[in-house]
Amino acid sequence: MSTATKVWTRENGIIEKRDLWAAMRRGFRSRCPRCGEGKLFRAFLKTADQCSVCGQDFTGHQADDLPAYLVIIIMGHIVVPLALFIETNYSPPVALQLSIYLPLTLFGSLALLQPVKGAVVGLQWALRMHGFEETPADGIPPA
Ligand SMILES: [Zn+2]
Repeated sequence: MSTATKVWTRENGIIEKRDLWAAMRRGFRSRCPRCGEGKLFRAFLKTADQCSVCGQDFTGHQADDLPAYLVIIIMGHIVVPLALFIETNYSPPVALQLSIYLPLTLFGSLALLQPVKGAVVGLQWALRMHGFEETPADGIPPA
């Protein structure tokens, strides 16, 4: 058995850049940001412990409340201009407007929450944020 030691040079220490947009797209589709094949979620908003295909560990991600804030911003930019446009041009009864806007906001938010959380996890993975630092599986030892 060889006892050759590995010499770490500057070139060896350069970390491979991860594709931010590809990782966010994969996360948005609820797929592993690393391989794009394995499932990212095991429940509606619970991430899997690891990717079933490439083994990427997801336990360290810290999306916290960012997906909810982003969904509020996105839905606010859809529903509020729509409500203003309809009110200024057609002025339908308030009950009719509420019967459209409230379910639209509720179901639109629920529909966006998982994809947006996946994109946030993909962003954190691509930027090597806390929980997604280099691991020996990446071929680079942790700092
Ligand atoms: Zn994977």
